[in-house]
Amino acid sequence: MSIYDKYEAVIGLEVHIQLLTKSKMYSNDSAEYGGLPNTHVSVITLGHPGTLPKVNKQAVEFAVKLGLAVNGNIRYENQFARKNYFYADLPKGYQITQDKTPFCNGGHISIKLKNGEEKNINLTRIHMEEDAGKSMHDQDATDTLVDLNRAGVPLLEMVSEPEICNGDEAYAYLTEVRKLVRYLDICDGNMEEGSMRCDANVSVKIKGVKEFGKKVEVKNMNSIRNVQRAIEYEIIRQIDLLEAKQEIAGETRSFDAVKGTTFSLRSKENANDYRYFPEPDLQPIFITEKYINEVKQTLPELPSALYKRYVQDFKLSEYDASVLTDTKAIAHYFNELTTHTKNYKAASNWLTVNIKSHLNENAIDIERFPIKPTQIAELISIIDEGKISHTSASQKIFPELVKSPNKTSLQIAQELNLLQESNTDALQDLVNQVIAKYPEKVTEYKNGKVTLVGLFMGEVMKLSGGKADPKVTSKLVKDTLDKA
Ligand code: ADP
Ligand code: MG
Repeated sequence: MSIYDKYEAVIGLEVHIQLLTKSKMYSNDSAEYGGLPNTHVSVITLGHPGTLPKVNKQAVEFAVKLGLAVNGNIRYENQFARKNYFYADLPKGYQITQDKTPFCNGGHISIKLKNGEEKNINLTRIHMEEDAGKSMHDQDATDTLVDLNRAGVPLLEMVSEPEICNGDEAYAYLTEVRKLVRYLDICDGNMEEGSMRCDANVSVKIKGVKEFGKKVEVKNMNSIRNVQRAIEYEIIRQIDLLEAKQEIAGETRSFDAVKGTTFSLRSKENANDYRYFPEPDLQPIFITEKYINEVKQTLPELPSALYKRYVQDFKLSEYDASVLTDTKAIAHYFNELTTHTKNYKAASNWLTVNIKSHLNENAIDIERFPIKPTQIAELISIIDEGKISHTSASQKIFPELVKSPNKTSLQIAQELNLLQESNTDALQDLVNQVIAKYPEKVTEYKNGKVTLVGLFMGEVMKLSGGKADPKVTSKLVKDTLDKA
């Protein structure tokens, strides 16, 4: 047993979700990403005296959507609060956030563990707030530059309970959160561009001990994988410290993605006192039951529900179900496909194998895939009817359909001369010819060498130019031999 097995980690994640609204949280400045520096900045964003903030209605709707999607409790009376601190990228000198009254408490994100089990990670709260601007330390030789385009952009902050046990679970949690916000169309979930950000709170303790260890907050991970790496590094670092009888400092650390290590940014000992107080310039927001129900109507079918439906009703494998629900667009295509065919397994295979590899090879999204679900359904049905083989469908017809998406599969099959012969009369002629050609083999078959069916099948196939339907042919060959 290694020293590391004596310990267990306790992890809570704080995720910032940047909302896809047109305008900012408390003003009508554009919230669009990019743009020339300091062009989306009005006097409200700058907090000039006499200006008044206004709450973005769309941001409230997005907040309620997320709260409902995680099964949280939506608060009816929402108060905003000022969080005061001084920093160059915060022109007002305070951030408008929610303190005592987050719009959502409770709820959970369900993750799949490596052993296949499901685990719910409970949520403490989700609140609405605004982002700060961006300080750029590497654009100028001597000065730090500030871009305030991001100042005031709406964020939801989702705080988990300290129930995550390792880097793998954190990875699964963030993957689910990202999938969810993308399904809801409230955030693009892009950790590389910073529109979804995660701070990881990590502590360790001896296994079984109730009391938590001192936590360290790690920031600046620009991908889900890096959050996992930072946590894994941090757990080892903390255990090593404890084993060396040293204390863990309550501090904020940053992740260095190149080295794969964390380093101290600031100690919590001289942490800010934010002097929270109710925001005097904003009325509370009252969210009614009626409004919540209206928003509920607009929710799409969520990935977890789709996943269950695909496994339980369509009898698909868990792997297939997870590939199909990975993005809303893929699930949407699959849903449409299954309104045109009941062969769910085949539909799933076409999507997860043929279509997916086409998308990957051409680096396009399913939105730009030219073949309509109805055509894939037709392809499935003509295979099932024995008109074409699966091989010619996937190797010849599918690539042709991509090039000429206005043709039908059947048209292409005709043009390429791929229609299988399942006309029994024509096939029977071929079977008769073959049997007449090999009288000794017929005798051997009669004497018990039943594997010879394969030889006759092969000959019929050859004569038909590969177009004989194997199922029909096999039956004809057997019947004819038995009668011979
Ligand atoms: P702070 O006031 O320092 O921000 P919070 O109590 O708000 O701390 O918790 C922030 C996050 O840290 C939450 O996700 C919570 O689950 C997590 N957390 C709290 N205590 C611990 C701990 N001892 N170890 C790991 N995570 C923790
Ligand atoms: Mg915090």
